[in-house]
Amino acid sequence: MSKISRNTLNLIYRAGLLDAVHPLWADRLTVLAYHRIADPNGAGFDTFEPNVSATPTAFAAQMDFIRQRFNVISGRDLVAWLQGEQSLPTHPLLITFDDGYRDNLDHAWPVLQQRNMPAVIFLATNYMGQATPFYWDLIAYCFYHTTKQEADLPLIGLQQWHDKASRTAVLKKWLNSLKKLPDQEKWTAVNQLPRLLDVSISPDTFAGLHLTWDQVRTMTATGIEMGAHTQSHPILTRVSLAQARQELEGSKNRIEAEINQPVKLFAYPNGLSTDFNADLQTILAQLNFAAAFTLLPGPTQPAEAQQKPLAIRRIFLHHQDTLPRFAAKVMGLPRLLKPSG
Ligand SMILES: [Zn+2]
Repeated sequence: MSKISRNTLNLIYRAGLLDAVHPLWADRLTVLAYHRIADPNGAGFDTFEPNVSATPTAFAAQMDFIRQRFNVISGRDLVAWLQGEQSLPTHPLLITFDDGYRDNLDHAWPVLQQRNMPAVIFLATNYMGQATPFYWDLIAYCFYHTTKQEADLPLIGLQQWHDKASRTAVLKKWLNSLKKLPDQEKWTAVNQLPRLLDVSISPDTFAGLHLTWDQVRTMTATGIEMGAHTQSHPILTRVSLAQARQELEGSKNRIEAEINQPVKLFAYPNGLSTDFNADLQTILAQLNFAAAFTLLPGPTQPAEAQQKPLAIRRIFLHHQDTLPRFAAKVMGLPRLLKPSG
């Protein structure tokens, strides 16, 4: 869809063309993949901006768009359908959030509550209630606060920057190199960054970034379901199968113990085609997970979801999505143009 210009998208949106084709594919399963709901340009925002899926204002507008065109289902509805116990409404749509950021409570939950919409939050359990940042947030924080204009970084060597844009480019280049490393080596490299960029991190620098278990329980009591997203958020194909099993089982057991409800949904960290495989799906099935979600682009044909319930597609959203772009993604325009993609 990146090849479709903003003007064309605006035109398609204003002309109502998406609404015209909407009834033609009424049984498709649409799953939205959000991460953070926050204002990346707001005062005090100094963590990883690409992980922001929508501002609070945009999120509310997106939920109003959804409410008028889709039937929002819960994770339980999806599981019951996958297990043959109930059918789905037309235009079924599931709302999901990855990682378990505190802003889901502050900015998404009120919007969902006002509209009586269910959603699923996938938790990386080692981080809940902790002031430990995800590595991408630690890296972004260091680049944001450094006064240096160069650094000799592990993997990519001496890098220089002179403004925000070139600094962001270095950050992204380093993150892309890091992602390919085994988990332990990645952390060894990341932990050098505060020193390399001369940024001090205190024990409470990242306090309040993640949900606490009490907050998780509060939301669970009001129709928000919790799914597993591993303990430490490794890319599961880059750790041993024994470690992967521990990550899956440990996160499931922890959430079930904290909320006293079964956890049957899972989302793969990073979620692309190289980030999950058949071995992982076997373990998920053994652990009694009923559905697992990727970041391969959706929507999904119902038959595909039933055949591959442990690799369900989602629609990845980004805070730079305008409402016309959001509409095109959610209404399946990229998949209609390239259904096999
Ligand atoms: Zn994640």
